[in-house]
Amino acid sequence: MSAQLLDGKGLAKRIKAELKETIAQLQEQHQVAPTLAVMRVGDDPAAAGYARAIKRNCEGVGVAFHPEVLPQDATQEQVMAVLEELNASPKVHGIMVLEPVPDHIDLDALILALNPAKDVDGVHPLNAGRLMQQRPPYFVPATPAGGIRLLEEAGVAFKGKRAVVIGRSDIVGKPMALLLLHRHCTVTIAHSRTVDLPAVAREADILCVAVGRPEMVTGDWVKPGAIVVDFGTTYTEEGLKGDCEQESVAAVAGMMTPVPGGTGPMTNAMLMANVLEAYKRVIG
Ligand code: NAP
Repeated sequence: MSAQLLDGKGLAKRIKAELKETIAQLQEQHQVAPTLAVMRVGDDPAAAGYARAIKRNCEGVGVAFHPEVLPQDATQEQVMAVLEELNASPKVHGIMVLEPVPDHIDLDALILALNPAKDVDGVHPLNAGRLMQQRPPYFVPATPAGGIRLLEEAGVAFKGKRAVVIGRSDIVGKPMALLLLHRHCTVTIAHSRTVDLPAVAREADILCVAVGRPEMVTGDWVKPGAIVVDFGTTYTEEGLKGDCEQESVAAVAGMMTPVPGGTGPMTNAMLMANVLEAYKRVIG
């Protein structure tokens, strides 16, 4: 068997083209651009690179990018004051606080202080809790939102399927498990302490992997015909690698997301969709 590859790159392009059109129309009507503020503290190169990527992503769909860069030695009070301004500004619709922050900054306190209505990353506990309880409105973190959208577009029938999610982070594994649960899958969440992980993985009709260990999952972990969603993105000497060993997994799975070109581009598209959602809530 050779798995059908789920084309996240193509779908993300289509979603972004639709977002761009909608944003242009709404901006024309309301004379205000959807705006994403991106805060970072200090000069961490990974955060700076991520900010540049978000800026390009915004430019691609017509979202205004509002950077806030604070110096490495900014105090908690100074950072909090900038966040409060963004929270209150009617011109700002979405806010992201990029990690890492310097050690003396209390990131948890910043996340708690975020206006939940602008939390387009879905990291505030109110959004996470509302997602858990399935009580809208809430923002779903962009990566699992993109994974589920890829499956929906592929026509996956979720009801009654056995799903296994490997990884339990707040931004990928746990929300992905909830999204599958809400679609009536029977969900197992596996992690670094799971005993006999390959056997657990083999139970899955839908196997989602969000670990960050390149090519950890091989074909012998996969039930024949299963659907495999690979969230892993690790830069290696051989290029970008997912958590799945593509060749052996594709030989067994029915569908799978490739890396690159699967869940990565979908994350970008769904983040912009969240910014549009936040903007729409304001303009009514
Ligand atoms: P994370 O916070 O580091 O979480 C990793 C999870 O993997 C943890 O729950 C950990 O278990 C589990 N794990 C670690 N080693 C394991 C092992 N040997 N066996 C089973 N489980 C193991 O990572 P994350 O933020 O969720 O990201 C996961 C991956 O997704 C990374 O490659 C990241 O780059 C990628 N990612 C991709 C996108 C995208 O756009 N596609 C977006 C975000 C993240 P414990 O909880 O027991 O420690």
